[in-house]
Amino acid sequence: MAELGEKTVMERIKKTAKEIEPELIEIRRELHQYPELGMKLPKTHEIISRELRKIPGLLVQEHKAGGSGIIAVMRGGKGEGKTVLLRADIDALPLEEKVETQYRSKNPGCMHACGHDGHASWLIGAAKILSEIREEWGGCIKFVFQPGEEVGKGADTLINEDRVLESPGVDMAFAAHGWPSIESGRIGIARRCAFGGVGSFRVKITGQKGHASWPEQAIDPIAAASEIYQHIPAILARKISGTESKVMSVTYMQAGDPGVRNIIPGICEFGGTMRAARRETLETMGRELEKEAKAVCDVYGALCDVDVQIHGSAVENDANLLDGVRSAAAKICGSEQVYIIEEDNLGGENFSEYSRRVPSVYMFIGIRPADQKEIPGLHSPEYRFDDHVLSKAAGVFAAIGYYGCMRYYLKSI
Ligand SMILES: [Zn+2]
Ligand SMILES: [Zn+2]
Repeated sequence: MAELGEKTVMERIKKTAKEIEPELIEIRRELHQYPELGMKLPKTHEIISRELRKIPGLLVQEHKAGGSGIIAVMRGGKGEGKTVLLRADIDALPLEEKVETQYRSKNPGCMHACGHDGHASWLIGAAKILSEIREEWGGCIKFVFQPGEEVGKGADTLINEDRVLESPGVDMAFAAHGWPSIESGRIGIARRCAFGGVGSFRVKITGQKGHASWPEQAIDPIAAASEIYQHIPAILARKISGTESKVMSVTYMQAGDPGVRNIIPGICEFGGTMRAARRETLETMGRELEKEAKAVCDVYGALCDVDVQIHGSAVENDANLLDGVRSAAAKICGSEQVYIIEEDNLGGENFSEYSRRVPSVYMFIGIRPADQKEIPGLHSPEYRFDDHVLSKAAGVFAAIGYYGCMRYYLKSI
């Protein structure tokens, strides 16, 4: 019986998803015309709230995350069940749109070039579907519309100030990103690391100025800096396991003055980014860089000041949830369309704020039309979102919410 019920529910999800497709496209295109940046998204907030308020059974809490975030809560009609958080980021980027469409950006210098308009739209769709089948499930779903993702904010405010993970306590969280390298209709799920942990570093070396002809009387900070720089590959290769994904890139180095060729400068500073699949790896990288910098500077007699910051943890997919999410998505899209990505992805995403607190899975939803080999990437002024994926993605989120609440998977949680 349970099996039959579940099948019927999946059919209803697919049917409703198809029916609401035109609305979702319209919502996505409306949002696309009013891209807004960072944490202040008044128009975006207005459009999303307006749509959510139309959905029966949804308690819409507006003006969260400092004003532009929304937490919408729905309880299933079957009583008890798990609490599932589904999250969409909703902010745009400071870019001038180069795509000519009827719904192009009306805000100069601002564009939805990361597809968060699509994320908002498919999550509204999931709420519509789960409302439609509300008598079929128990538990609670929190639909979270988060501003500030591109600036590394929003998630922490929702968690620490708005207490989105509490009352009722969230058992698991899910999110997805539209992904230009994946064909539309397909969904990739990272086996382990969906996004890397992000850190940055700065090394300031203070030597001693001197005449370029008598370097022995100076303390050359450029020589010390370049020696430290040369050691970075050794830190990665010899201090961290070869099986760990990690990258460390120096993105600037500054010393001296191009107009002065006969003086060794007193200061050299460099810095950059580091990424890793695990927070502990980032911590090791920072610690080893500091040790190396101090040792080299000691040899030169220079002073060294190292600043290492860890900005975000990795988005690590929960091993216990992975199979369940994969099969839930497969029920909507077909099993051949859903696959596991074995490589770690070291981009950054502040969904990590949720995923380091509750078991989570992050998915990559293909947005590259099948007839195109390549499309402009995320953050490109020519970026395009494939509207055909909206209803499928909404269905996938609805199925994941349904199974999560109904404990079909996650026996360990
Ligand atoms: Zn982005
Ligand atoms: Zn994005």
